[in-house]
Amino acid sequence: MHGMIAQEWSRRQFVTRLATAGVLAGAGIPAFAQSTMSGDAAIKELMAGNERYLAGQISSFPEDLKILKEKTVLKQEPFAAVLSCADSRVPVEIVFDQSIGHIFVARVAGNLVTPEIMASLEYGVAVLGIKAILVMGHSNCGAISAAVAAKEVPGQISVLYQHLIPGIKGAKGDVALAVKMNAAYQAQVLRESSTVIAKAIKNDGVRVTSGSYDLGTGRVTLAD
Ligand SMILES: [Zn+2]
Repeated sequence: MHGMIAQEWSRRQFVTRLATAGVLAGAGIPAFAQSTMSGDAAIKELMAGNERYLAGQISSFPEDLKILKEKTVLKQEPFAAVLSCADSRVPVEIVFDQSIGHIFVARVAGNLVTPEIMASLEYGVAVLGIKAILVMGHSNCGAISAAVAAKEVPGQISVLYQHLIPGIKGAKGDVALAVKMNAAYQAQVLRESSTVIAKAIKNDGVRVTSGSYDLGTGRVTLAD
């Protein structure tokens, strides 16, 4: 047990040092590659979980309890990352029937890429060794509807618009189309604007894809 703690601690120090030195943002990042699953296999596993969810055969809750009992608090080995909307009707782990420690989830209204979201996903790829990132929009998204209508909104809400508008211009007011276009656009931003992710795609076969969740049916459909 002590060995494991020491190992984890030195890994944390290593990561902290890398981050402090700014190494994580540059080239030559040593991926810890805890997950051995390929990008394609990781997406397949997510979709298999969505099928279990659709069939009402969720297996993750008993598994959660088992994992909690085993007290595996010192490490995480997620096999995929999902960037989703903050919408309460899109519970990511449930939708993919995944348990504690299986998926690395970032959520923000409109499932858009800000520097903080990019940094979180870069951590998932560079440090946790995740091989697949799914950007997942959903039907009837309030953030997308508001951006399409360019509605006046209170407080800081309009800050979201700048991240959404470039990707949904071509949707011409069609919210369902804008949801798909936005997810594809945010995936493209991740692929092209993150040096860490671009490098991982090229060298480690990391897959960054997009899809959307249908609130009515519960089905996740991939863009490609
Ligand atoms: Zn939404």
